[in-house]
Amino acid sequence: MQTLKPHAALLASPGMGHLIPVVELGKRLTAHYGFYVTIFVVASDSSIEESPIFGSASALDRLKIVLLPPVDISGLIDSTASVVTQLVMMMHEALPSLRAAISTMRARPTALVVDLFGTEALAVAEKFNMLKYVFIASTARFLAATIHLPTIDGQTEHEHRIMKKPLEIPGLEPVRFEDTLDLFRNQTDKSLYAEYTRIGREIPTADGILVNTWQDLEPSTMHALEDDKFLGRVTKAPVYPVGPLVRPVGPNSKSEVMNWLDMQPVESVIYVSFGSGGTLSAEQTAELAWGLELSQQRFVWVVHPPMDDDASGNFFNGSNGQDGTPNYLPEGFYTRTHDRGVVVPMWAPQTEILAHESVGGFVSHCGWNSTLESIVNGVPMVAWPLYAEQGMNAAMLVEKLGMAVRPRTRAAGRAVGREEIAEMVNSVMKSKGNGMRTRAKELQRNATGVVRKGGSSHNSLTQVARECEVKLYSLSAKALGA
Ligand code: UDP
Repeated sequence: MQTLKPHAALLASPGMGHLIPVVELGKRLTAHYGFYVTIFVVASDSSIEESPIFGSASALDRLKIVLLPPVDISGLIDSTASVVTQLVMMMHEALPSLRAAISTMRARPTALVVDLFGTEALAVAEKFNMLKYVFIASTARFLAATIHLPTIDGQTEHEHRIMKKPLEIPGLEPVRFEDTLDLFRNQTDKSLYAEYTRIGREIPTADGILVNTWQDLEPSTMHALEDDKFLGRVTKAPVYPVGPLVRPVGPNSKSEVMNWLDMQPVESVIYVSFGSGGTLSAEQTAELAWGLELSQQRFVWVVHPPMDDDASGNFFNGSNGQDGTPNYLPEGFYTRTHDRGVVVPMWAPQTEILAHESVGGFVSHCGWNSTLESIVNGVPMVAWPLYAEQGMNAAMLVEKLGMAVRPRTRAAGRAVGREEIAEMVNSVMKSKGNGMRTRAKELQRNATGVVRKGGSSHNSLTQVARECEVKLYSLSAKALGA
């Protein structure tokens, strides 16, 4: 007799950084537990279907990716709204199509797993009598901060936001203002704080909270989330650390940058990338170029044209220099660095690059996917946060995990200068003696172990899978009138 296997529906909010870990979770549920998985993707247009992530995952048996009808929020929202407010609005507008898609499915899913911006859809799961989970594609520390938000009073908010006092979270180290979340920093988008507070209230209504972290990475925060003396009484639902869920290295791609890496010595190249959307000002982009040059280290740099609100924003509309250097980089940069650096415009095969033996350091904006990709490859970092929860991630990488350095001057709101950049790059690349590389390699070993059979994250996900199986059997028994 064929055993019944649960069907999980996963809901991914717009953006590669959100879609990638959700797809990895779906893949693990099919590969390790035989689940059927449908991933519903919300996007502003259908171009996402061109992404290789879409194709490779859809080729898997039992896993289907469905793009919900693209949502247009242009007439519904102020053009100055933050990215998060736009995401939240898109997820809200996608709810009717999600509901319709689930109601017409022949085999109703047993569980719905939503990401941070999809918590409103937990009500859809409730309506269809499905188990409901939230998947936090970030740290346990970020989860703790989010569910703590609704308990913060006006006075505490004022002290943190305006007086810049550290934010106390029960059982955790206080969050310094310079490391805090955008919702406390953004003074123009009034709905941001309210939306996060709503999300913080909705998360604990789930049957379980999955987090892309692991027990050994954040033991004290995991304890605070579970213990009633700290956050346990707000968390309510069990927290399952199931990470690291990271995109595996694809089949050997023969791109120019990979060919170049093949020719470099082991651990001699620093990889520089600020994620899918991270953009620096014109001044900062130029300082980074000078800093890399000054460091004398080999590098691969994924460059986005700079953006800032002053006149220099026009910089990148002009033509390139004689040697092809774009005019937002110092003149002659390509000529002076061509023997030890590669500049990749816009997008690079990051997981492949970080896994390459020639790469020995990563200058990163500390998006959680990038951070995990660095950890699973044992690569020490220059932790250079830009937005969202990246400041908290950077603080953890430097102070708790000891595998990164971070800019000192960023806190003052100034551009990070070339000397400091060169100094940070050199300290990471020459980190044999200073412990960062050793720590990164230790964390790599630990991260590899926890997802294997018997490892803590494997066990956590097994618990979730069991709950889904129990639910499926009870539903089938009911249907048979048992
Ligand atoms: N990424 C990539 N190539 C790039 C930039 C990003 O493959 O040039 C991938 C990266 O490997 C990671 C994801 O996009 O998996 C970015 O997610 P992250 O959470 O680090 O940052 P976000 O882009 O969401 O700010």
